[in-house]
Amino acid sequence: MQALDPVCKMTIDSDTAAAKADHNGTTYYFCMVGCKNAFLDNPKNYLPKKSLFSWLKK
Ligand SMILES: [Zn+2]
Repeated sequence: MQALDPVCKMTIDSDTAAAKADHNGTTYYFCMVGCKNAFLDNPKNYLPKKSLFSWLKK
């Protein structure tokens, strides 16, 4: 399965991902442990800003 590393935006394969993390019920895959650590340090930095998107739709 193809997955997007939310930190560096690299497309990776979930079977060969170097690291993964669960956040709010979603599993994220990472190309390396460093990306996972950066994500876990501040997930909001890397996730789509839903509040911003809902604001833009108005
Ligand atoms: Zn990465």
